[in-house]
Amino acid sequence: MRKKKCTNVSHKHAFSPVRFCPECGETLNCLIPENVCSGAGHAEKCKRQDFYCSDCGQYLLSQMHG
Ligand SMILES: [Zn+2]
Ligand SMILES: [Zn+2]
Repeated sequence: MRKKKCTNVSHKHAFSPVRFCPECGETLNCLIPENVCSGAGHAEKCKRQDFYCSDCGQYLLSQMHG
């Protein structure tokens, strides 16, 4: 279904330091436990223009509405 391949540098790591890719939301390293994030943490990731939270995998841009 995906039209373009994710080019995020996180995919190039053999062992990614984050669980989820901030660009496509794919699981990069299942050995890293899922985090429960605070809203502030997500706001910060939004500022960095991440699409997905690299800690919990939640889609962040939906929060920008309203
Ligand atoms: Zn990706
Ligand atoms: Zn999160």
